[in-house]
Amino acid sequence: MLVIVHYGEIALKGDNRKFFEEKLVENIKKSLQTNRIVFDYVKRISGRILIELKQGEKEGASLLPFKRKEGSSFLEEKVRVVLQKVFGITYFVFAQEAQQDIESIKSKAVEILKDEIFNSFKVETKRGNKSFALTSQQVNEQVGEEVLNKISPIRNSSDRTNCVRVDLHNPDIILYIEITEKYAFLYTKKFSGPGGLPLGVSGKAVSLISGGIDSPVASYLMMKRGVENIFVHFYSNQQGYEQSLEKVKDILRVLKKYQEKIKVYFVPFGEVQKEIVLKTKADFRVVLYRRIMFLVSREIATQEKAKALITGESVGQVASQTLDNMLAVEEAVLLPVLRPLAGWDKQEIMDLAKKIDTYEISILPHLDCCSIFAPEHPATKANLKDVKIQEKKLKLKKLIKSALEKTKIENI
Ligand code: ATP
Ligand code: MG
Repeated sequence: MLVIVHYGEIALKGDNRKFFEEKLVENIKKSLQTNRIVFDYVKRISGRILIELKQGEKEGASLLPFKRKEGSSFLEEKVRVVLQKVFGITYFVFAQEAQQDIESIKSKAVEILKDEIFNSFKVETKRGNKSFALTSQQVNEQVGEEVLNKISPIRNSSDRTNCVRVDLHNPDIILYIEITEKYAFLYTKKFSGPGGLPLGVSGKAVSLISGGIDSPVASYLMMKRGVENIFVHFYSNQQGYEQSLEKVKDILRVLKKYQEKIKVYFVPFGEVQKEIVLKTKADFRVVLYRRIMFLVSREIATQEKAKALITGESVGQVASQTLDNMLAVEEAVLLPVLRPLAGWDKQEIMDLAKKIDTYEISILPHLDCCSIFAPEHPATKANLKDVKIQEKKLKLKKLIKSALEKTKIENI
Protein backbone atom coordinates (compact mmCIF):
# COMPACT_ATOMS: atom_id res chain seq x y z
CA MET A 1 0.00 0.00 0.00
CA LEU A 2 1.32 3.42 -0.97
CA VAL A 3 0.97 6.47 1.20
CA ILE A 4 1.94 9.94 0.05
CA VAL A 5 2.66 12.49 2.74
CA HIS A 6 2.35 16.19 2.02
CA TYR A 7 3.88 18.90 4.14
CA GLY A 8 3.32 22.61 4.05
CA GLU A 9 5.61 24.93 5.84
CA ILE A 10 8.74 22.84 5.49
CA ALA A 11 8.74 23.75 1.85
CA LEU A 12 9.43 27.37 2.81
CA LYS A 13 12.62 26.66 4.64
CA GLY A 14 15.15 27.33 1.86
CA ASP A 15 18.51 25.73 2.52
CA ASN A 16 17.18 23.97 5.58
CA ARG A 17 14.59 22.16 3.56
CA LYS A 18 16.56 18.90 3.31
CA PHE A 19 17.15 18.86 7.06
CA PHE A 20 13.43 19.35 7.76
CA GLU A 21 12.40 16.69 5.29
CA GLU A 22 14.89 14.19 6.65
CA LYS A 23 13.66 14.81 10.17
CA LEU A 24 10.08 14.23 9.03
CA VAL A 25 11.12 10.97 7.35
CA GLU A 26 12.89 9.88 10.52
CA ASN A 27 9.89 10.76 12.70
CA ILE A 28 7.46 8.93 10.41
CA LYS A 29 9.67 5.83 10.48
CA LYS A 30 9.86 5.91 14.26
CA SER A 31 6.10 6.30 14.68
CA LEU A 32 5.36 3.46 12.29
CA GLN A 33 7.87 1.22 14.06
CA THR A 34 6.55 2.06 17.52
CA ASN A 35 3.10 1.04 16.36
CA ARG A 36 4.40 -2.09 14.66
CA ILE A 37 3.50 -1.06 11.17
CA VAL A 38 5.87 -2.73 8.74
CA PHE A 39 7.08 -0.76 5.72
CA ASP A 40 9.42 -1.32 2.79
CA TYR A 41 10.58 2.26 2.71
CA VAL A 42 9.86 5.85 3.72
CA LYS A 43 11.61 8.20 1.31
CA ARG A 44 11.71 11.74 0.03
CA ILE A 45 10.59 12.39 -3.52
CA SER A 46 10.08 15.82 -4.99
CA GLY A 47 8.04 17.85 -2.51
CA ARG A 48 6.51 14.80 -0.81
CA ILE A 49 7.31 11.74 1.22
CA LEU A 50 6.47 8.33 -0.09
CA ILE A 51 5.72 5.34 2.14
CA GLU A 52 5.41 1.80 0.88
CA LEU A 53 3.70 -0.33 3.50
CA LYS A 54 4.09 -4.07 3.66
CA GLN A 55 0.81 -5.78 2.96
CA GLY A 56 -0.31 -8.84 4.84
CA GLU A 57 1.56 -7.68 7.88
CA LYS A 58 0.80 -9.45 11.12
CA GLU A 59 -1.71 -7.30 12.88
CA GLY A 60 0.19 -6.68 16.09
CA ALA A 61 -1.26 -4.62 18.90
CA SER A 62 -1.01 -0.89 18.35
CA LEU A 63 -0.24 1.49 21.17
CA LEU A 64 -2.94 3.75 19.84
CA PRO A 65 -6.63 3.08 20.29
CA PHE A 66 -8.63 3.36 17.11
CA LYS A 67 -11.92 2.40 15.63
CA ARG A 68 -12.17 0.78 12.31
CA LYS A 69 -14.35 2.57 9.80
CA GLU A 70 -16.44 0.78 7.27
CA GLY A 71 -14.74 0.27 3.95
CA SER A 72 -11.19 0.80 5.09
CA SER A 73 -8.68 -1.87 5.92
CA PHE A 74 -7.25 -2.54 9.34
CA LEU A 75 -3.82 -1.43 8.18
CA GLU A 76 -5.19 1.76 6.66
CA GLU A 77 -6.96 2.68 9.89
CA LYS A 78 -3.84 2.04 11.90
CA VAL A 79 -1.70 4.17 9.62
CA ARG A 80 -4.24 6.98 9.76
CA VAL A 81 -4.21 7.11 13.54
CA VAL A 82 -0.40 7.16 13.56
CA LEU A 83 0.16 9.78 10.85
CA GLN A 84 -2.47 12.09 12.30
CA LYS A 85 -0.05 12.60 15.20
CA VAL A 86 3.18 13.24 13.32
CA PHE A 87 3.91 16.96 13.33
CA GLY A 88 4.91 18.47 10.01
CA ILE A 89 2.32 16.51 8.01
CA THR A 90 -0.39 18.68 6.48
CA TYR A 91 -2.19 15.84 4.78
CA PHE A 92 -1.65 12.31 3.56
CA VAL A 93 -3.33 10.00 1.11
CA PHE A 94 -3.56 6.34 0.26
CA ALA A 95 -2.68 6.27 -3.40
CA GLN A 96 -2.65 3.88 -6.30
CA GLU A 97 0.20 4.07 -8.75
CA ALA A 98 -0.07 4.06 -12.54
CA GLN A 99 2.63 4.15 -15.16
CA GLN A 100 3.38 7.63 -16.30
CA ASP A 101 1.43 7.51 -19.55
CA ILE A 102 -2.09 8.68 -20.15
CA GLU A 103 -3.53 5.26 -21.06
CA SER A 104 -2.35 3.71 -17.78
CA ILE A 105 -3.64 6.70 -15.87
CA LYS A 106 -7.02 6.45 -17.56
CA SER A 107 -7.47 2.77 -16.81
CA LYS A 108 -6.35 3.22 -13.20
CA ALA A 109 -8.87 6.07 -12.86
CA VAL A 110 -11.70 3.83 -14.02
CA GLU A 111 -10.53 1.01 -11.77
CA ILE A 112 -10.63 3.33 -8.74
CA LEU A 113 -13.92 5.06 -9.51
CA LYS A 114 -15.91 1.99 -10.48
CA ASP A 115 -16.08 0.97 -6.82
CA GLU A 116 -17.18 4.38 -5.58
CA ILE A 117 -20.73 5.60 -5.23
CA PHE A 118 -21.24 9.00 -6.84
CA ASN A 119 -23.13 10.87 -9.47
CA SER A 120 -20.98 13.92 -10.03
CA PHE A 121 -17.20 13.94 -10.17
CA LYS A 122 -14.22 16.07 -11.02
CA VAL A 123 -10.63 15.25 -11.92
CA GLU A 124 -7.91 17.42 -10.38
CA THR A 125 -4.42 16.93 -11.73
CA LYS A 126 -1.15 18.34 -10.45
CA ARG A 127 1.78 17.97 -12.76
CA GLY A 128 5.16 18.30 -11.08
CA ASN A 129 6.99 16.65 -13.96
CA LYS A 130 6.77 19.33 -16.62
CA SER A 131 8.18 17.04 -19.27
CA PHE A 132 5.01 14.95 -19.18
CA ALA A 133 3.40 15.25 -22.60
CA LEU A 134 0.03 16.63 -21.47
CA THR A 135 -0.83 19.68 -19.38
CA SER A 136 -2.81 19.20 -16.16
CA GLN A 137 -5.92 20.48 -17.90
CA GLN A 138 -5.51 18.02 -20.75
CA VAL A 139 -5.14 15.17 -18.26
CA ASN A 140 -8.31 16.34 -16.47
CA GLU A 141 -10.22 16.37 -19.74
CA GLN A 142 -8.98 13.04 -21.07
CA VAL A 143 -9.42 11.17 -17.80
CA GLY A 144 -12.84 12.81 -17.27
CA GLU A 145 -13.98 11.66 -20.66
CA GLU A 146 -12.76 8.12 -20.05
CA VAL A 147 -14.67 7.99 -16.77
CA LEU A 148 -17.83 9.25 -18.48
CA ASN A 149 -17.47 6.67 -21.23
CA LYS A 150 -16.58 3.71 -19.09
CA ILE A 151 -18.56 4.29 -15.95
CA SER A 152 -21.77 5.93 -17.12
CA PRO A 153 -23.11 2.92 -19.01
CA ILE A 154 -22.77 0.64 -16.01
CA ARG A 155 -24.88 2.83 -13.78
CA ASN A 156 -26.98 4.69 -16.23
CA SER A 157 -29.74 2.12 -16.76
CA SER A 158 -32.98 3.92 -17.53
CA ASP A 159 -32.85 6.36 -14.63
CA ARG A 160 -31.47 9.63 -15.95
CA THR A 161 -30.95 11.13 -12.49
CA ASN A 162 -28.44 8.37 -11.88
CA CYS A 163 -26.20 9.63 -14.65
CA VAL A 164 -22.52 10.09 -13.95
CA ARG A 165 -21.58 13.66 -14.82
CA VAL A 166 -18.81 16.18 -14.34
CA ASP A 167 -19.37 18.91 -11.79
CA LEU A 168 -16.47 21.29 -11.31
CA HIS A 169 -17.96 23.23 -8.41
CA ASN A 170 -19.66 20.79 -6.11
CA PRO A 171 -18.75 17.23 -7.08
CA ASP A 172 -19.64 14.17 -5.00
CA ILE A 173 -16.12 12.89 -5.50
CA ILE A 174 -12.79 14.27 -6.65
CA LEU A 175 -10.22 12.09 -8.35
CA TYR A 176 -6.79 13.53 -7.64
CA ILE A 177 -3.90 12.78 -9.94
CA GLU A 178 -0.30 13.68 -9.13
CA ILE A 179 2.26 13.40 -11.89
CA THR A 180 5.65 13.76 -10.32
CA GLU A 181 9.18 12.61 -11.11
CA LYS A 182 8.67 9.18 -12.60
CA TYR A 183 5.41 8.46 -10.81
CA ALA A 184 1.70 8.92 -11.42
CA PHE A 185 -0.46 8.67 -8.31
CA LEU A 186 -4.24 8.56 -8.10
CA TYR A 187 -6.51 8.84 -5.08
CA THR A 188 -9.87 10.19 -3.93
CA LYS A 189 -9.50 11.00 -0.23
CA LYS A 190 -7.20 13.30 1.72
CA PHE A 191 -6.64 12.90 5.46
CA SER A 192 -5.37 15.83 7.45
CA GLY A 193 -2.27 15.64 9.61
CA PRO A 194 -1.62 17.86 12.60
CA GLY A 195 0.42 20.45 10.65
CA GLY A 196 3.30 22.28 12.31
CA LEU A 197 6.97 21.33 11.98
CA PRO A 198 8.71 17.98 12.48
CA LEU A 199 9.46 17.39 16.13
CA GLY A 200 13.08 18.11 16.95
CA VAL A 201 13.84 20.66 14.23
CA SER A 202 13.50 23.56 16.64
CA GLY A 203 15.75 22.22 19.40
CA LYS A 204 14.82 21.55 23.02
CA ALA A 205 12.98 23.42 25.76
CA VAL A 206 12.15 22.65 29.37
CA SER A 207 8.41 22.48 29.89
CA LEU A 208 6.94 23.17 33.34
CA ILE A 209 4.14 20.66 33.68
CA SER A 210 1.73 20.94 36.57
CA GLY A 211 -1.01 18.37 36.26
CA GLY A 212 -3.54 21.09 35.45
CA ILE A 213 -5.30 21.75 32.16
CA ASP A 214 -3.06 24.40 30.67
CA SER A 215 0.50 23.16 30.76
CA PRO A 216 -0.02 19.97 28.69
CA VAL A 217 -1.70 22.11 26.01
CA ALA A 218 1.26 24.50 26.04
CA SER A 219 3.66 21.56 25.64
CA TYR A 220 1.62 20.18 22.77
CA LEU A 221 1.68 23.52 20.95
CA MET A 222 5.44 23.85 21.25
CA MET A 223 5.95 20.24 20.13
CA LYS A 224 3.88 21.18 17.14
CA ARG A 225 6.40 23.91 16.35
CA GLY A 226 9.16 21.31 16.34
CA VAL A 227 10.38 21.85 19.91
CA GLU A 228 11.37 18.73 21.83
CA ASN A 229 10.05 19.01 25.41
CA ILE A 230 11.98 17.99 28.52
CA PHE A 231 9.54 18.05 31.43
CA VAL A 232 9.88 19.29 34.98
CA HIS A 233 7.30 18.92 37.72
CA PHE A 234 7.49 20.42 41.22
CA TYR A 235 5.76 18.71 44.11
CA SER A 236 5.71 18.86 47.88
CA ASN A 237 5.86 15.70 49.95
CA GLN A 238 2.48 16.15 51.59
CA GLN A 239 0.13 13.27 52.12
CA GLY A 240 -1.10 11.69 48.90
CA TYR A 241 1.54 13.28 46.70
CA GLU A 242 2.42 9.98 45.00
CA GLN A 243 -1.01 9.95 43.43
CA SER A 244 -0.46 13.41 41.99
CA LEU A 245 2.83 12.30 40.48
CA GLU A 246 0.99 9.39 38.89
CA LYS A 247 -1.45 11.85 37.42
CA VAL A 248 1.36 13.86 35.84
CA LYS A 249 2.77 10.62 34.41
CA ASP A 250 -0.64 9.77 32.97
CA ILE A 251 -0.71 13.13 31.21
CA LEU A 252 2.80 12.54 29.90
CA ARG A 253 1.74 9.13 28.58
CA VAL A 254 -0.83 10.94 26.45
CA LEU A 255 1.80 13.41 25.22
CA LYS A 256 4.01 10.45 24.36
CA LYS A 257 1.79 9.87 21.36
CA TYR A 258 3.24 13.07 19.90
CA GLN A 259 6.79 12.88 21.24
CA GLU A 260 8.28 9.44 21.39
CA LYS A 261 10.78 9.98 24.19
CA ILE A 262 9.54 11.66 27.33
CA LYS A 263 11.96 12.57 30.09
CA VAL A 264 10.67 14.16 33.27
CA TYR A 265 12.39 15.69 36.29
CA PHE A 266 10.42 15.43 39.54
CA VAL A 267 11.65 18.18 41.83
CA PRO A 268 10.69 18.18 45.54
CA PHE A 269 9.58 21.68 46.47
CA GLY A 270 8.55 21.30 50.12
CA GLU A 271 11.73 22.76 51.60
CA VAL A 272 11.59 25.80 49.35
CA GLN A 273 7.99 26.44 50.29
CA LYS A 274 8.65 26.01 53.97
CA GLU A 275 11.43 28.55 53.90
CA ILE A 276 9.39 31.01 51.87
CA VAL A 277 6.49 30.75 54.30
CA LEU A 278 8.75 31.15 57.32
CA LYS A 279 10.86 34.03 56.06
CA THR A 280 8.96 36.18 53.57
CA LYS A 281 5.85 38.32 53.43
CA ALA A 282 2.71 36.42 52.41
CA ASP A 283 1.91 38.71 49.46
CA PHE A 284 5.05 37.70 47.63
CA ARG A 285 4.94 33.97 48.12
CA VAL A 286 3.52 33.03 44.76
CA VAL A 287 6.00 35.19 42.84
CA LEU A 288 8.87 33.81 44.90
CA TYR A 289 7.78 30.20 44.37
CA ARG A 290 7.65 30.83 40.71
CA ARG A 291 11.00 32.59 40.53
CA ILE A 292 12.61 29.59 42.20
CA MET A 293 10.76 27.17 39.94
CA PHE A 294 12.18 29.06 37.00
CA LEU A 295 15.69 29.08 38.48
CA VAL A 296 15.62 25.32 39.05
CA SER A 297 14.22 24.82 35.54
CA ARG A 298 17.02 26.94 34.14
CA GLU A 299 19.58 24.63 35.73
CA ILE A 300 17.86 21.67 34.14
CA ALA A 301 17.79 23.52 30.81
CA THR A 302 21.55 24.07 30.99
CA GLN A 303 22.08 20.41 31.76
CA GLU A 304 19.86 19.37 28.86
CA LYS A 305 21.20 21.98 26.41
CA ALA A 306 17.65 23.32 26.18
CA LYS A 307 17.21 26.89 24.97
CA ALA A 308 13.93 28.01 26.54
CA LEU A 309 11.30 27.36 29.20
CA ILE A 310 7.64 26.62 28.40
CA THR A 311 4.70 27.38 30.68
CA GLY A 312 0.93 27.18 30.37
CA GLU A 313 0.37 30.72 31.56
CA SER A 314 -2.37 32.84 30.02
CA VAL A 315 -2.41 36.56 30.64
CA GLY A 316 -4.85 37.50 33.39
CA GLN A 317 -6.10 33.97 34.10
CA VAL A 318 -5.10 34.04 37.78
CA ALA A 319 -3.31 36.47 40.09
CA SER A 320 0.13 35.07 39.33
CA GLN A 321 -0.36 35.57 35.62
CA THR A 322 -0.50 39.34 35.29
CA LEU A 323 2.12 41.04 33.12
CA ASP A 324 3.68 42.59 36.23
CA ASN A 325 4.08 39.22 37.85
CA MET A 326 5.35 37.58 34.71
CA LEU A 327 8.01 40.26 34.55
CA ALA A 328 8.91 39.78 38.21
CA VAL A 329 9.27 36.03 37.68
CA GLU A 330 10.99 36.07 34.32
CA GLU A 331 13.62 38.48 35.52
CA ALA A 332 15.10 35.61 37.50
CA VAL A 333 16.16 33.66 34.42
CA LEU A 334 18.08 34.64 31.33
CA LEU A 335 16.16 32.34 29.04
CA PRO A 336 13.25 32.96 26.72
CA VAL A 337 10.02 31.83 28.40
CA LEU A 338 7.59 30.54 25.81
CA ARG A 339 3.96 31.00 26.77
CA PRO A 340 2.01 29.69 23.80
CA LEU A 341 -1.30 30.18 25.64
CA ALA A 342 -0.65 33.80 26.61
CA GLY A 343 -3.45 35.06 24.37
CA TRP A 344 -5.90 32.19 24.78
CA ASP A 345 -9.20 32.14 26.67
CA LYS A 346 -9.73 29.31 29.14
CA GLN A 347 -12.46 27.84 26.94
CA GLU A 348 -10.13 27.71 23.95
CA ILE A 349 -7.50 25.97 26.06
CA MET A 350 -10.04 23.44 27.34
CA ASP A 351 -11.24 22.72 23.80
CA LEU A 352 -7.73 21.87 22.65
CA ALA A 353 -7.06 19.86 25.82
CA LYS A 354 -10.10 17.73 24.92
CA LYS A 355 -8.91 17.31 21.36
CA ILE A 356 -5.48 16.07 22.39
CA ASP A 357 -6.97 13.82 25.13
CA THR A 358 -5.34 15.41 28.18
CA TYR A 359 -8.47 17.14 29.52
CA GLU A 360 -10.09 14.16 31.21
CA ILE A 361 -6.91 13.44 33.16
CA SER A 362 -6.19 17.08 33.98
CA ILE A 363 -9.57 17.63 35.65
CA LEU A 364 -9.01 14.81 38.13
CA PRO A 365 -8.17 16.19 41.59
CA HIS A 366 -4.50 16.65 42.43
CA LEU A 367 -2.37 18.40 44.99
CA ASP A 368 -1.21 21.71 43.61
CA CYS A 369 2.10 22.43 45.27
CA CYS A 370 1.75 26.15 44.51
CA SER A 371 -1.60 26.67 46.13
CA ILE A 372 -1.06 24.96 49.49
CA PHE A 373 0.47 27.90 51.24
CA ALA A 374 -0.76 30.54 48.84
CA PRO A 375 -2.11 33.64 50.54
CA GLU A 376 -5.75 34.57 50.13
CA HIS A 377 -4.91 37.74 48.23
CA PRO A 378 -1.66 37.28 46.36
CA ALA A 379 -0.05 40.40 44.90
CA THR A 380 -1.16 40.93 41.33
CA LYS A 381 1.40 43.67 40.76
CA ALA A 382 4.60 42.44 42.31
CA ASN A 383 7.19 45.17 42.32
CA LEU A 384 10.55 43.75 41.36
CA LYS A 385 12.43 45.74 44.00
CA ASP A 386 10.16 44.45 46.79
CA VAL A 387 10.35 40.90 45.47
CA LYS A 388 14.12 41.03 45.55
CA ILE A 389 14.14 42.34 49.12
CA GLN A 390 12.05 39.34 50.14
CA GLU A 391 14.15 36.94 48.11
CA LYS A 392 17.32 38.13 49.88
CA LYS A 393 15.93 36.60 53.06
CA LEU A 394 16.21 33.12 51.53
CA LYS A 395 19.26 30.94 51.20
CA LEU A 396 18.57 30.75 47.51
CA LYS A 397 21.62 28.86 46.23
CA LYS A 398 21.39 26.27 48.95
CA LEU A 399 17.67 25.72 48.37
CA ILE A 400 18.13 25.26 44.64
CA LYS A 401 21.10 22.93 45.10
CA SER A 402 19.23 20.82 47.61
CA ALA A 403 16.10 20.60 45.42
CA LEU A 404 18.20 19.50 42.46
CA GLU A 405 20.04 16.89 44.51
CA LYS A 406 16.76 15.31 45.53
CA THR A 407 15.33 15.44 42.04
CA LYS A 408 14.39 12.15 40.40
CA ILE A 409 14.51 11.68 36.64
CA GLU A 410 12.15 9.29 34.88
CA ASN A 411 11.65 8.21 31.33
CA ILE A 412 8.03 7.61 30.42
P1 ATP B 1 -2.08 24.60 34.73
O1 ATP B 1 -3.44 24.26 34.31
O2 ATP B 1 -1.06 24.31 33.67
O3 ATP B 1 -1.74 24.02 36.07
P2 ATP B 1 -2.82 27.05 35.97
O4 ATP B 1 -3.82 27.82 35.26
O5 ATP B 1 -3.22 26.19 37.11
O6 ATP B 1 -2.03 26.18 34.90
P3 ATP B 1 -0.67 28.12 37.58
O7 ATP B 1 -0.90 27.10 38.61
O8 ATP B 1 -0.53 29.54 37.92
O9 ATP B 1 -1.74 28.10 36.42
O10 ATP B 1 0.62 27.72 36.77
C1 ATP B 1 1.05 28.41 35.65
C2 ATP B 1 2.10 27.58 34.94
O11 ATP B 1 3.21 27.34 35.82
C3 ATP B 1 1.61 26.22 34.57
O12 ATP B 1 0.93 26.21 33.33
C4 ATP B 1 2.88 25.42 34.51
O13 ATP B 1 3.58 25.66 33.30
C5 ATP B 1 3.68 26.02 35.65
N1 ATP B 1 3.45 25.25 36.91
C6 ATP B 1 2.55 25.46 37.86
N2 ATP B 1 2.63 24.55 38.85
C7 ATP B 1 3.63 23.71 38.49
C8 ATP B 1 4.23 22.54 39.07
N3 ATP B 1 3.81 22.04 40.24
N4 ATP B 1 5.25 21.95 38.42
C9 ATP B 1 5.69 22.44 37.23
N5 ATP B 1 5.17 23.52 36.65
C10 ATP B 1 4.16 24.15 37.25
MG1 MG C 1 -1.92 24.80 38.07
